[in-house]
Amino acid sequence: MNNQLPYQDKDGNMIADEVEITPALLPNSIAACIIPKPKEKTRTVFIGNVIPFFRGKGDLTIICGNCFLPLACNISEGQLQNIVIKCPNCDKYNDIQ
Ligand SMILES: [Zn+2]
Repeated sequence: MNNQLPYQDKDGNMIADEVEITPALLPNSIAACIIPKPKEKTRTVFIGNVIPFFRGKGDLTIICGNCFLPLACNISEGQLQNIVIKCPNCDKYNDIQ
């Protein structure tokens, strides 16, 4: 299984148990850009409560830029483009470029 979060930093070093693990420390996680609510019909906005919204076979995780909630797991680079995901946890709009 590939959906277990690896507790390693970018260089492959294990992060010590005492260190508080935050998604920002995890490799291959990208914090999305928080934007104001898009005007209607200008962007594709995903709204829902099922987390993550997307799951693929890649190794990238996109996390909410505000609260670090994983919004898309195991996606491939470029798989998601030009969409907006409304975080169900903090209600912020995450711009996925
Ligand atoms: Zn959030």
